[in-house]
Amino acid sequence: MFSHNSVIVVRSNIGVVDLIKIKGLTYLFASIAACVSLSACSSAPTASASANATSTNASGIAAEVNQMPDISASVQSNAEAFPMCLTGLQARARAEGLSEATINSTIANLKFVPRVIELDQQQPEFSQTFDNYFSKRATEWRVNEGRRLLQKHSVLLNQLAQKYGVPPQYILSFWGLETNYGSYKGKMSVLNSLATLACEPRRSNYFTIELMQALKLKEKYQFDDDTMVGSWAGAMGHTQFMPSAYAKYAVDGDGDGKADLWNSTTDALTSAANFLQHLGWQRNQRWGREVLLPKDFSYSHLGAKQPLSLSEWAALNVTQSNGQPLPAVDIQAALYLPAGHTGPAFLGYENFNVIMRWNRSEFYAITVGHLADRINGGQPLTVSPPEQPRLSREQVKQLQTKLNEAGFDVGKPDGVLGRNSMAGLQAFQRSKQMIADGFPSPEVFTALGL
Ligand code: CA
Repeated sequence: MFSHNSVIVVRSNIGVVDLIKIKGLTYLFASIAACVSLSACSSAPTASASANATSTNASGIAAEVNQMPDISASVQSNAEAFPMCLTGLQARARAEGLSEATINSTIANLKFVPRVIELDQQQPEFSQTFDNYFSKRATEWRVNEGRRLLQKHSVLLNQLAQKYGVPPQYILSFWGLETNYGSYKGKMSVLNSLATLACEPRRSNYFTIELMQALKLKEKYQFDDDTMVGSWAGAMGHTQFMPSAYAKYAVDGDGDGKADLWNSTTDALTSAANFLQHLGWQRNQRWGREVLLPKDFSYSHLGAKQPLSLSEWAALNVTQSNGQPLPAVDIQAALYLPAGHTGPAFLGYENFNVIMRWNRSEFYAITVGHLADRINGGQPLTVSPPEQPRLSREQVKQLQTKLNEAGFDVGKPDGVLGRNSMAGLQAFQRSKQMIADGFPSPEVFTALGL
């Protein structure tokens, strides 16, 4: 047996790629093609409803901008249109080959849920700060519970690591973040939620497809309505799979003939590993890591679109968070500063991008990776995320307007700091000889006269 916390140098046909610290398990080192094709991977549906509902953008500020000022009027009009919409869904179901029982009984009895429309159209008034996001999710409770479950499920998790290439701590981290390790899986009727959203014009196509998939799952596995519960956006089970992800990637891990992501931990964890493999998980690599930047760092390569190899980062005097050199190898990594230059810095490897395919949020990807490290015996962050003020949408709009006026084009001010805004902000900072981290600090507001 391996001792706990053994450090194994993982090798592949591209050489030593990094150190992976693993507990009591061994790997098959043969590299495998995780995706049939890149396009198949990139088009794979995300598992989590939050990818579609509450994801955050490059700056961690909620990305979904829903211009629906009067929610009550929207709820009213959707409620009135619902019966007619159900008739259309019945026709669609018939065209997709669903049974007459499903069409005439299940669909006919679906309910409009006003709360779903309200939750879908809520606009966050303030941006999320990294400190706030991270401290609520990478909690000591989740670390300790993850470590307990690592022992409890070690046989299964080690089998999954061998078969799918995803180390135990990552599967646990997704499980912990999505549902607190299965302790809260959502209680809303998935079919009613999806029907409500399918009948709301804004994202009707997407949710109609998800509803049809959910109905097919119900037919295939004979799930009853009490079983099919989940988030308001239709995400289901221990790891919050949307129906299309369930249909494609759910696995009957315990062999009882049914892939049951609500009631079978074995099925749920196996399905998560299978899904991550299909999203492109690199079995020999970490997610990324916290790093330290040198004092004279230029910030010219920042964000997902400007990766460098670890060797190149090392040449720029970027080190591991304990001060040790980065492994001098040829894998690509992108730099993320979720709280600006005064906060922690992270390099995201290819698996960081894989986590983003599960839930399109850089905050989420960092948190999954860090929680996985902690579950595996790792230390807290070397640089604690600083407490920072939350910005209102109005403040961000003012910032964007000022940047446009100063000649740094960030597009139409929308109150959301996306990649264009960050690029414009960086250019402004450079023009003022400020640290060009693209972060909306109080100094930036002052420099823009706000
Ligand atoms: Ca099963």
